[in-house]
Amino acid sequence: MTESLATQMVDGQPEAFRVLVVEDDPVTRRLLEKLLQRSGYQVETAGNGRDGLALFEAGSFSIAISDWMMPEMDGLQFCRAVRSHDQQRYSYIILLTAKDSKDDLISGLEAGADDYLVKPIHPAELIARLNTARRILGLERSLRRRNEEIARLSITDSLTQVFNRGYFNQQLPAEISRVRRHGGSLAIAICDIDHFKRVNDRYGHQAGDAVLSDFAHCLRDNVRQGVDWVARYGGEEFALVLPETDLAGALLAVERFRSLVAEICVLSAAGSISITASFGVAALNADTDASVATMDRLVFTADECLYEAKHHGRNRVAGRALQPGHQQPE
Ligand SMILES: [Mg+2]
Repeated sequence: MTESLATQMVDGQPEAFRVLVVEDDPVTRRLLEKLLQRSGYQVETAGNGRDGLALFEAGSFSIAISDWMMPEMDGLQFCRAVRSHDQQRYSYIILLTAKDSKDDLISGLEAGADDYLVKPIHPAELIARLNTARRILGLERSLRRRNEEIARLSITDSLTQVFNRGYFNQQLPAEISRVRRHGGSLAIAICDIDHFKRVNDRYGHQAGDAVLSDFAHCLRDNVRQGVDWVARYGGEEFALVLPETDLAGALLAVERFRSLVAEICVLSAAGSISITASFGVAALNADTDASVATMDRLVFTADECLYEAKHHGRNRVAGRALQPGHQQPE
């Protein structure tokens, strides 16, 4: 095997597999270290399970090769300790042993080892076992990536790439309970592109899609990153969620969005398109009675304010803080 083979792709860059060798016998330890380095692995070593575990916890190792019989902490205890960690990435563990009775091997695998090697070490066998380890780790990694991608897609609106309605429905109640538990404020804005149907009618649906995307990106790119978030509420309606923001702060922020949107110029085959949007803001202020703080009330109030903004001529912002006894949604 050449050096370049013992690498893995990490964030698009090739990176050497990091192998932790845990072995109390210095001769075997050095032999393993040399063999592995010669095959292109990045190696660190420890003389017992306890030191090995400390190294393991400090660094990210793809593969650990651990002796069984060791002072302080033996190989089985090491395996169990590694497996008890909540690892973001799977680590592949090979147990080294002079034992080759079936019962011993079973207890090794049950302790969390993926594979074992019986001493004395045969270099070609060691390398072949490591090839297996890399194959398994590669499969695990691509499966994990795919799962992360599926999780991301399940909360993303496919056209605009902001969060979808499902995420809004799931996440807004969490934001509200945070306010109910810890106090503070929270505001939402329902935003609607004015006369959107005319865009579709006049310029076609492709241009309409471009308008939706540009509008969503304008909101997403201008919110406080990592704090505020944007979801497509449905059709040409979007929701802005502004944690730790009271009504006065939300009105200022949303007014800024209104003027940014009015500057958007979407280029389409049929000509450039200017848009405006109307915004309805609802806020839970610090003094809002917790009993009125529900998702339904917040959305209902924002909708009412959006209607007001439309009614007063569009391209404007209307907003209100939730009040006790405010009309319940039907
Ligand atoms: Mg030993």
